[in-house]
Amino acid sequence: MKYFPIFLSLSDRPVVIVGGGEIALSKLRVLLRTEACLHVFARSPAAELEALAASGRICLTRRSLCAGDLPGAALVYAATGEDEETASVVRLARAAGVPVNVVDDLGRSDFITPAIVDRDPVTIAIGTEGAAPVLARALKADLEARLPVRLGLLARIGQAFRPLAAHLPQGRRRRDFWAEFYFSAGPRALGRGGAAAAEAVLRSLLSRHMTQKERDGHVAFVGAGPGDPELLTLAARRALDEADVVLHDRLVPPAILDLARREARIVDVGKRGFAAATPQDRINALMVQHAGAGDLVVRLKSGDPSVFGRLEEEIEACEAAGIGWHVVPGITAASAAAAGIGQSLTRRGRNSALRLLTAHDMQGFAEQDWRALARPGAVAAIYMGKRAARFLQGRLMMHGAASETPVTVVENASRPDQRILPGTLATLATTLENGACDAPAMMLLGLAPRAATGALMELKEALS
Ligand code: SAH
Repeated sequence: MKYFPIFLSLSDRPVVIVGGGEIALSKLRVLLRTEACLHVFARSPAAELEALAASGRICLTRRSLCAGDLPGAALVYAATGEDEETASVVRLARAAGVPVNVVDDLGRSDFITPAIVDRDPVTIAIGTEGAAPVLARALKADLEARLPVRLGLLARIGQAFRPLAAHLPQGRRRRDFWAEFYFSAGPRALGRGGAAAAEAVLRSLLSRHMTQKERDGHVAFVGAGPGDPELLTLAARRALDEADVVLHDRLVPPAILDLARREARIVDVGKRGFAAATPQDRINALMVQHAGAGDLVVRLKSGDPSVFGRLEEEIEACEAAGIGWHVVPGITAASAAAAGIGQSLTRRGRNSALRLLTAHDMQGFAEQDWRALARPGAVAAIYMGKRAARFLQGRLMMHGAASETPVTVVENASRPDQRILPGTLATLATTLENGACDAPAMMLLGLAPRAATGALMELKEALS
């Protein structure tokens, strides 16, 4: 972040705009929404500027900017479009220590005016550090369409009510009250009976929330998916939005944790593959402790919580402590890996069953129904398989699997750094060793990347 977004108070503070044409006018139209004292310097002002001056909305000086004009100003805009005059404005602003913006010239500007969605007092500023103004405008249009025009009014009504709402204990009870006002009861009342109805609804909501008993804590076991935040479910996003505490696995990337409510406590309880881990008992204890204190706990697990995620053990810990829970399923790594190589996990005539395996269990390497897995056409998604590559290879070949059975390793499925390592059962161990595979990886037994399958078919046809 090169530019830090802040909201600057301009009430009764001088803001200077230099320029008399359309560039200055377009800046002025935004600045007129503020409570600043707008001072325009223009040698030949446009008629619209004269009209604004006549109505007392701006103060107009019909000459260039001079050194004595700036001290005390909050901001200066150079909106002249003329090189020489712009250079002089920048020089004067720097000398007076006043931040300057040269319209459409990022290099010479100290600050940027963002694209603004104005639902005063709710204001959304969008900036791209000059990288993509078109994107900023598209985002603005999107938000303009999405936010009710009267959102600002609702916020003002709410603002006047804040001292009364302070009778509710701080924290979740107060948040619940406001959430109900802004997102359901408030907009409905406003639509039905205007501001008076919205005020009335605030009073009845408050008395209801005051008498409500403390809500019980709860644990949501939430699937974070394979890593791409776009692959979160809407329910997962909502849970993150409401969480007081997020206990997450190591495989959940920061981009997903960033979606949690800003005040939420984020705790990494990651088990690090084969290295030191947060013991399961400790995770259970943390979960029970927070939910027992009335918090909404999101236990965020990579992929789907019910696939190799120790879900049952954690549910049992909740039940033993009398804590309510629910599960929000997620997209498991096998689905993401299959999507990554353009293949289907099942296919008529090839495999009518799909196995999700882990290469490890509590005793070490996990034994499986090798005979079934070795059959032609069998498909399995193998989790946590990297260190077991030689073991898998040996067991499968011993039970008659063809050495040319495709095995594709998909590392970091769905993430920007996704890597696909195609190979066969014979090459599996060397594929992994040569690939220096250090990230989470899924092995798809019986599936080759679609592109490779296509190329192989073409080769076969060409040879026949
Ligand atoms: N509950 C998770 C699995 C947890 S076990 C799920 O449903 O996906 C952890 C293993 O999942 C890793 O060792 C790796 O084999 C696999 N895995 C998780 N995320 C992955 C990703 N983005 N790409 C490839 N494999 C992944």
